Amino acid sequence: MNLDIPELSLIALVGISGSGKSTFARRYFKPTEVLSSDAFRAMVADDENDQSASKDAFEALHHVAGIRLRAGRRVVVDATNVQQHARAELVKLAREHDVLPVAIVLDTPEPIAWERTQARQDRTFGRQVLRSQQQNLRRSLRNLGREGFRKVHVVTDPGDVTITYERAW
Ligand code: ATP
Ligand code: MG
Repeated sequence: MNLDIPELSLIALVGISGSGKSTFARRYFKPTEVLSSDAFRAMVADDENDQSASKDAFEALHHVAGIRLRAGRRVVVDATNVQQHARAELVKLAREHDVLPVAIVLDTPEPIAWERTQARQDRTFGRQVLRSQQQNLRRSLRNLGREGFRKVHVVTDPGDVTITYERAW
């Protein structure tokens, strides 16, 4: 599967926990391009799982994303982005910096994501959390284009992806 992505864009990864966003980001993007909500929670609150730190973490993440976009640098946001309000902030940020927002959806079946999550030491939430993320994602999928994402790529096989960067014109 080839993903064409504008050269300068804000790329929102979208997917439930365990869908493989961070793995995908590591494989296909430079570490410095990837801004992850986990890393920002750790930065502001010493704990990547501290959900009460999310507001501060996203404020910091959006700030750094803005600085990168202003300098013409690609941004990949590694967060679940299954909620409409989270994505709206990213579309707004992209527009403010005249870059195109792009969504890459990791559409991994919830039972597989749950299996992976259970095997992880760094995740302790229950299945209901994942189910609710999945519901949000299902509701979101058909709206992404209307929300302002210029391209919406839905990835079902993350092992078989190439990315082509397109020049803006
Ligand atoms: P979170 O939202 O909780 O950060 P995530 O979407 O970033 O989750 P990852 O951390 O990338 O998910 O992956 C979760 C687990 O699944 C990891 O143990 C990872 O090794 C495994 N995994 C990720 N992608 C694949 C894949 N394509 N095939 C098999 N295992 C995978
Ligand atoms: Mg992750």
